[in-house]
Amino acid sequence: MGIKEQFRFVLCLLLFPTLLFAATPDVVLVTIDTLRADRVGCYGYAKAQTPTIDGLASQGVLFTNAVSHVPLTRPSHLTIFTGLFPFQHNVHDNVAAPLDPKIPTLAEILHQHGFATAAFVASFVVNAQSGLQRGFDTYADEFDPRKQPTQFALNLEKRGEEVYREFAAWQPAAKGKPYFAWIHLYDPHFPYEPPPPYSTRFANRPYDGEIAYTDEILSKIVKLLRPNTLLIVASDHGESLGEHGENAHSFFIYDSTLHVPLLMRWPGQLNAGSKITFQTRLVDLFPTILDLLNFPVPRNISGISLKPWLTRTGESEPKLLSYCETFTPWLHFGWSRLQGVRSSQWKYIEAPKPELYDLAKDSGESRNLYSRSATPVRDLRNWLQQSGALKAEAVPSTQELDPETLEKLASLGYAGVPSTAAALTGTLEDPKDKIGEYKIFNQTIREGIEAFQAQRYALAAEKFELLRSRNIPSFEVHYYLGRSYLQLHSYDKARTEIELALQKLPHFLPAYRDLSESWESQGNIKEAEKALLAGLTIAPNHPLLIQSLAWLYQTQKQFTKAEALLLAELQAHPDDLESRFRLGAIYRDTGRIDPAIAQFREIVMRTPEDPEAHNQLGMLYGASNRFQDSAREFEKAVQLAPQEKSYRSNLALVKGKTNDSLFRFRIIETKTRAAADVIFKKLQKGEGWEMLAQKYSIHPSARSGQPVLELSASEMNPSLAKVLSTLKTGEFSPPIASGNSFFLVRKE
Ligand SMILES: [Zn+2]
Repeated sequence: MGIKEQFRFVLCLLLFPTLLFAATPDVVLVTIDTLRADRVGCYGYAKAQTPTIDGLASQGVLFTNAVSHVPLTRPSHLTIFTGLFPFQHNVHDNVAAPLDPKIPTLAEILHQHGFATAAFVASFVVNAQSGLQRGFDTYADEFDPRKQPTQFALNLEKRGEEVYREFAAWQPAAKGKPYFAWIHLYDPHFPYEPPPPYSTRFANRPYDGEIAYTDEILSKIVKLLRPNTLLIVASDHGESLGEHGENAHSFFIYDSTLHVPLLMRWPGQLNAGSKITFQTRLVDLFPTILDLLNFPVPRNISGISLKPWLTRTGESEPKLLSYCETFTPWLHFGWSRLQGVRSSQWKYIEAPKPELYDLAKDSGESRNLYSRSATPVRDLRNWLQQSGALKAEAVPSTQELDPETLEKLASLGYAGVPSTAAALTGTLEDPKDKIGEYKIFNQTIREGIEAFQAQRYALAAEKFELLRSRNIPSFEVHYYLGRSYLQLHSYDKARTEIELALQKLPHFLPAYRDLSESWESQGNIKEAEKALLAGLTIAPNHPLLIQSLAWLYQTQKQFTKAEALLLAELQAHPDDLESRFRLGAIYRDTGRIDPAIAQFREIVMRTPEDPEAHNQLGMLYGASNRFQDSAREFEKAVQLAPQEKSYRSNLALVKGKTNDSLFRFRIIETKTRAAADVIFKKLQKGEGWEMLAQKYSIHPSARSGQPVLELSASEMNPSLAKVLSTLKTGEFSPPIASGNSFFLVRKE
């Protein structure tokens, strides 16, 4: 290269800095759940231990005034991924129908542009059911209880370490391709339980301890990134640490839960150490990321691209308004919802008692300046009205709700089932007046459910009775009180509560099973059946109700009805292993061993790590004299559950059968010595064994066609074993006295 060419090349680089990284970058979005901005060092918190976040901010762009739109994990992440406010993507709650499939997501678009895509999420509220999984090749949302410390939040979240390991294991899979990874870290979310050494170092500040731990995880993630990576670190919402009477998040829309940390780092592309101080919004991330990559930005979104302010200087500040809401008080308690709009200076909150705050002078939002005529109120309210936000409907989905989900939500501080009956009309209570009740409710219901899960039903009932007496309208109070009474055998009381729960939420199908159980426990099979049929008229294919009804029929020996139900259910849901198990059990109990074996083999194939399925299959093989197969299955069961004694004894039993002391023989049993002698003489004269057995034997095997019995020596009367050991195949014995009977045996 001559001097002239070299000069031109350098000039080129100076003029077109993007040429430095002509290749498409990796894009890594890290969302640190529940991280409020003012607990991070680069946002001015002196006691912070966040060297990684602070370092990234100095290498990239820090957004000092970034806000979330909704203090709830699922709706907020959906806003990040769609560029739409919650009233546009229509997900307002952690329990909701999946995102409308017509709305494109960031992952889908990047995938279309050739990115390898993967998400590593740490909470079940953003599992694949949310719709967030769309566009991801890999979506790691499995929560394996065995990988979590036992005390850790009931196994419904992943520690940062686990998320980091999943990402590290996946990353080489992207090979040379650029990739988009979303890494979700959930540790700062309640309950605050940082692992050592943070647990001791931050013993008095566990929330800060979770943040410090998360910062360390982030440092390990950052070390894995390739140089040409656009890294975005954000939080979905903050955390109210007692401010305005709120302990965590979701109930109010003050800045303690809306002001979030946000930074971007892209070496060589974004100015290191710069700050954006005007109000920016999580809704802007979607268009900004696409624009930075020079990809077209979909129309009809609410976010705008911040690229001009990230890549050029001297741009005048945009005056961005930010929408905010929480529907929690409304959906979960029937109180008013809160919706607001925030500018760099003002926040207006639409509520029965409206609020206006001057954020520039009163960042703690402690002086409500609302008056109908105040200019900011008029402008902000106009915006709210014209945006369509106030007309938003919320149709919460109850489909995924089951007792397990309710318990998980309650343990995370989200008690209160979204009601389908919530109405906007009429005068609804202002959440500001209800915060005390809300706190008592959340705390007591969590204590009640914890007691219920620990099988301390009397204590659980006490907690739920307390809430019932306070008259807080809640499905859960009635439902869990009913279930506690069910466990305490107070069936009439149980029924009253479960019926009240069903009045509030008729579509909560598991409650019909509980209702049925209360009747069945009192021996009223007709009513028990009626309760299940009532649930099945709402959802004719509901597996739990079908299984319960089949079980009810089975206990009444109505095997044909039970079998028909389960067969239909399995046709609709071939993966329903519970139904398959029950069908197999019916075949087994009605002596149809081969069909039973077929069902259990299917179960074992689908869940090879289920010890009980292997045990059942082992017993069935044993019953059809396939002892080697039987031993193999018991061995697997023992291997999977070494602590289970019955698996071991089954294995020992069948091993006894597979060794030399196993006898195959037929038997004739009589009540008297004289009868036995007569038969013995006839046998000696050459009369047929089968005919004599059918004519004289009182042993049940004689009536069913004299099958060959197969027993090991250890399983039979020692005198019988002794006789059998002296006989040759085809020989029969003289009468043997045993108990009140007399036996003749023939070795086979
Ligand atoms: Zn969250």
